[in-house]
Amino acid sequence: MCAIVGIYGAENASKIAYYALFAMQHRGQESTGISAADGEKIRLVKARGLVTEVFSEAVFETLGGDCAIGHNRYSTAGNESKMDAQPIFARYKLGEISVAHNGNLVNKFEVRDELIEQGAIFQTNMDTENIVHLIAKSQKDMLIDRIKDMLTKIEGAYCLVIQSRSKMFVIRDRFGIRPLSLGKLKGGGYIVASETCAFDLVGAEFIRDVAPGEMLIFGEEAEPISEQIFEPDYHPCAFEFIYFSRPDSIIDGTNVYQARLDMGKRLAKEAPADVDLVLPVPDSGVAAARGYAEGLGVPFEMGIVRNHYIGRTFIEPTQEIRALKVRLKLSPIKYLIEGKSIAIVDDSLVRGTTSRQIVKILKEAGAREVHMRIASPEIRFPCRYGIDTPTQAELISARHTPEEIASIMGADSLGFLSVDGLVDSLGRERKYSLVSFDGDYFAGGSAQSPGCSD
Ligand code: 5GP
Ligand code: MG
Repeated sequence: MCAIVGIYGAENASKIAYYALFAMQHRGQESTGISAADGEKIRLVKARGLVTEVFSEAVFETLGGDCAIGHNRYSTAGNESKMDAQPIFARYKLGEISVAHNGNLVNKFEVRDELIEQGAIFQTNMDTENIVHLIAKSQKDMLIDRIKDMLTKIEGAYCLVIQSRSKMFVIRDRFGIRPLSLGKLKGGGYIVASETCAFDLVGAEFIRDVAPGEMLIFGEEAEPISEQIFEPDYHPCAFEFIYFSRPDSIIDGTNVYQARLDMGKRLAKEAPADVDLVLPVPDSGVAAARGYAEGLGVPFEMGIVRNHYIGRTFIEPTQEIRALKVRLKLSPIKYLIEGKSIAIVDDSLVRGTTSRQIVKILKEAGAREVHMRIASPEIRFPCRYGIDTPTQAELISARHTPEEIASIMGADSLGFLSVDGLVDSLGRERKYSLVSFDGDYFAGGSAQSPGCSD
């Protein structure tokens, strides 16, 4: 997960970065940060919390500058690195540098151990710190050559924005696994961001996606300089379309909402159900459920209400309430459900926790039959490219067949979208990263290697 943004050549750069991070809050809620450069100095503000909690007017006065880079961090509760935040700032031989990273380096521990062996000290658990060390240790005279040196030593999935006091470097790995787009700001200057929904909020004009293996250099020149650093082998992450990205974002020309509608329609062909009503699991299942209902020709209803105010600050409920924890967030409209046969559609099944509880609340609300439909294939392998999936043992589809899972959940049936159906819905014109579904670790790493993304 995670979101990154870079703003170059704009008055109020850090304010624009702030709006962009706000638009991409869904990609990470653990911590956030912005670092700004004014040609002479880099200033950084980062902390745990949401974008609106961490930044204030006073912060923007401190930050200043016309180049700003920012980051929203996603990490699971209980992770030992939950205090970590980005961008990472450092002083080194050539001056000051700041780095924000979305993705996951598969050779994090090899590189880190080698650096530690050579005397490096680390302050965080983030693989991004490797990048800063590798740049600082390179013997090249120019920052750009140090960055290129560093890029030969890291492997895996990454989108990077690197800021010096007067320049900004943007890099997307050769597989283009995580999304990254380039836009032009109306008031002058440029923006790069993980998702195009950030452009819409700040009124930027979309130019193009950053190419896989490309580096963009923002400096004195009026336009960014592009260099193709690596031979591209494009494999955008299918899970960005399935779950991560906001429905209004466009990845490589495909609108995310439309892709989800198409997945739902295809699911209706592959796993139909004889039902009275189709309901989504809000919010992530809404678009796919709409497509599923349309495909079946059955009414679609928002039959489950979601409480949007359950945040991280919710006080641990008492034992009686905890048993009904899902009800704090999701509540069925009994009036719609009672006596009906229901298809309930979610975007994905990971551990099975959500679905199990949803089947229960629908049955308790009087549903005659509950047919669970998942608008993505069975997740049988942990992703190593920037999605924080649990260990393979925790993935319910790695251990059980759909029939077994249906019976564990108490559902009358369970159906998934096939891998072929997914790829058809997304378009055959490109390859995808499908590692969670097919276990093809084409960019390195394995099901056993350590996960966790930055
Ligand atoms: P489960 O309850 O099966 O463990 O997870 C499935 C639910 O989690 C789905 O509703 C899906 O929208 C959501 N989900 C899928 N991937 C992720 C993720 O990486 N992070 C979070 N927070 N939720 C996810
Ligand atoms: Mg969900």
